[in-house]
Amino acid sequence: MKFSKRINLIQPSSTMALTSKANELKHKGEDIIVLTVGEPDFDTPNYIKDSAKKAIDEGLTKYTAIDGTAELKKSIIDKLKTENNLEYSSNEIIVSAGCKQSIFNFLQAVIDDGDEVIIPQPYWVSYADIVKYSGGIPVMLQTNYENNFDIDVTELENLINEKTKLFMINSPNNPSGKYYDSELLKKISSVLIKHTNILVSSDDIYEHIHWHAEKFHNILNVCPELKQRTVILNGVSKAYSMTGWRIGYAAGDKEIIKKMKTLQSQSTSCASSISQAAASTALNNTCHELPEMNKEYKKRHDFVVSELNKIDGVECKPTDGTFYVFPSFKDYLKENKLLSNDTELALYILEKAKVAVVPGSAFGIDNHIRISIAIDMDSLKEAMKRLNTSLS
Ligand code: GLU
Repeated sequence: MKFSKRINLIQPSSTMALTSKANELKHKGEDIIVLTVGEPDFDTPNYIKDSAKKAIDEGLTKYTAIDGTAELKKSIIDKLKTENNLEYSSNEIIVSAGCKQSIFNFLQAVIDDGDEVIIPQPYWVSYADIVKYSGGIPVMLQTNYENNFDIDVTELENLINEKTKLFMINSPNNPSGKYYDSELLKKISSVLIKHTNILVSSDDIYEHIHWHAEKFHNILNVCPELKQRTVILNGVSKAYSMTGWRIGYAAGDKEIIKKMKTLQSQSTSCASSISQAAASTALNNTCHELPEMNKEYKKRHDFVVSELNKIDGVECKPTDGTFYVFPSFKDYLKENKLLSNDTELALYILEKAKVAVVPGSAFGIDNHIRISIAIDMDSLKEAMKRLNTSLS
């Protein structure tokens, strides 16, 4: 079979692939603790599930408008106003089947062959491949553990040229857990504001899983002048523990949204009607479970960070949010004669400790592993015990 050049440009998502491999081993009876996928272990709150049941009973089981139901779009507009202090109209919003589809549609709509997209590294696994699938060229902006994954704006400026089309922000960041505070966002925007052809994306999906001292800000909160060329990407998966419901959304200039809508009309038509009703309820009501879940993630984070730092050669700084920690194994790998990189390390951890993690290189940065803490405390305690024994 001769496949398209386009499909050969991309790889299976490593987070998804490693998770299915780990689950396969688990189903075969192996005692694997799966710390690969970033998926809340909590159940979707009851008030949200009830609203989905009601939607089914009321017959909300048909196609919806391509860009989302009027009800959900209104909930998103209200959310952006009250939580983010941003004003949008209905034709500036599109609902898709998960934030991943929103990102995919956005890039397909604006990236042309040869366009360059600047992505801070480490980045979420799908960013680079979605850029490639759109015909673009991912251009990496290096950040590092030692520098707390800070963005060097001089380096950002050096990467910009006439082919640069987009700069992608994801804060709090998957996998590093770094939050771009308003001071950093101001520095970034001082560069972007000068280059008027560059679009900006702000992936805010971890907005609520956040324990930095500053209240969540995105780039538009510090630089409203960028609004016309910035697209906000978000969804209900992470905050409301609704990964399987597949609801994400984008907010941005109406012409961009219109093109994303055209693409969606020729692909998935619309997101699930039932999930849209549930997502609207999630956003419209106070979710009492949200601070509880956040508190639990923070407790797990503190525990895992402290346990990892007990292992010789491993360093793990506290994060600002998300449900990942991203320890450095640089010294560990330097001393180790048998393992030469983080991919071998992740395999070794899987075989010896029966703990599944994602190597940092999947996120574009070596010598790290990503550990998801979206799992109950008992499993985390057992995983840390196993890691300590197998790595010492
Ligand atoms: N975003 C999550 C992760 O990084 C979910 C899996 C995926 O879509 O990559 O694990």
